[in-house]
Amino acid sequence: MPDERLLSWQPVALAEPLHRLVGRHGKPAICQGWGEEIINQREIAGGGSVLCRACAGQAYYRPAQAAEQPARLCPCEV
Ligand SMILES: [Zn+2]
Repeated sequence: MPDERLLSWQPVALAEPLHRLVGRHGKPAICQGWGEEIINQREIAGGGSVLCRACAGQAYYRPAQAAEQPARLCPCEV
């Protein structure tokens, strides 16, 4: 399979400060939306389902605008 069909990427910007994203250690959960593992107790549970924040409409990132710089990932820069 060609790489361009297997992988996709896009620049994103954090929608909230990094220190709010650092979670607590806990038992991983599985998102019922896409089946990905959710770590650090970031799952959103309710209505009989468990979702990651992105599937629950609470993503910690948003697509970056063309003029924006890439997200800073160092906590000292938050
Ligand atoms: Zn999900």
